[in-house]
Amino acid sequence: MTGIYIHVPFCAKKCPYCDFYSVPYRKATAEAYVQAVIRNLKHYQNPDTVDSIYFGGGTPSLLSVKQISDILETCSTNFKLDSMTEITLEHNPTRTDRNYLYELRKAGVNRLSIGTQSFSDTQLKLLGRTHTAKQNLETVQNAFQAGFYHISCDLMLALPYQTEQVLTETLKILTSLPIQHVSAYLLQMEENTPFYTSPEILDNLPDDDTSADRYLQTVQMLEKAGFYQYEVSSFAKSGFESKHNLKYWYCQDYLGIGAGAHSCIKNRRFYVPKEIENFCQNPVQEEITISENACNSEEKLMLALRTSRGVPLSALQPEAQKKLAILIKNDYIKLKENNYIAMTPKGFAVSNAVTAMLI
Ligand code: SF4
Repeated sequence: MTGIYIHVPFCAKKCPYCDFYSVPYRKATAEAYVQAVIRNLKHYQNPDTVDSIYFGGGTPSLLSVKQISDILETCSTNFKLDSMTEITLEHNPTRTDRNYLYELRKAGVNRLSIGTQSFSDTQLKLLGRTHTAKQNLETVQNAFQAGFYHISCDLMLALPYQTEQVLTETLKILTSLPIQHVSAYLLQMEENTPFYTSPEILDNLPDDDTSADRYLQTVQMLEKAGFYQYEVSSFAKSGFESKHNLKYWYCQDYLGIGAGAHSCIKNRRFYVPKEIENFCQNPVQEEITISENACNSEEKLMLALRTSRGVPLSALQPEAQKKLAILIKNDYIKLKENNYIAMTPKGFAVSNAVTAMLI
């Protein structure tokens, strides 16, 4: 099984905390870009069944339904899809329009990942988002009415002024919605973003302990509402885990199409340079190899540790086995019935440090 990732590097407005490469949306550039995506999809042959297609960005919902539909048609002509193929589109809730959502569903998109981030207008304003909490609600409700029964919402944590009460309010609203999945990310301070040098942001960032508390509060409230944690940042109702996201953590194949897209195919990890003009002009996207030996045992271990499935105890080196007892005693790691180990929520909150002890 393979996944296809389609990168859409356009945004209507740059968010002040984001360092992803994206350019302002222009109709003509977007059309040339879509044609290049289609050209590249035709170039790659893969006999495996494609069980996930993921439109990520940037802001894929800036594309028209016709553009998305043309891309999906090319996928179904050139690859083997089936009725269970998960087709996700990242959607910016600035666009609440039910008709667009209905047409998207008709075009074959069956999973929506909505960039809600927060249900507090004050927090959304601070983040420089172009939508309100009301638009978040409208988008989720319209998506559900348009026939999306697999909806994910993004949630940002460790924000300035995000008290326990503020987060509780957001989580209460989030868990009352007809959604099946939540992706929760801690705000990262990235160089070369306005946030990185903003005195207001810097003076009001929560410390590590407070960030961990907000994270654990999120895990608890989501679990109470039926969303179990299956990865550091991912929570789902049973059966609604994202097939596409799991490919990254289980070292399965995925093909990335588009400027800046990454791929991992048969242990070869490569990426496409991020310049949009080159991508549009080249007959076939340029591939820069990162590793011919990706998904080696160490990398597999490191990635699988991010999931609640965890790793077999036997996969750990003897040195790591010695540290395990301390991690278990302090509730960072739990031993599972099948002789697997996995991080506890407390372990996930400091996952990099725990992973470093075990690798
Ligand atoms: S956070 Fe999303 S919408 Fe905002 S600039 Fe980054 S990619 Fe674009």
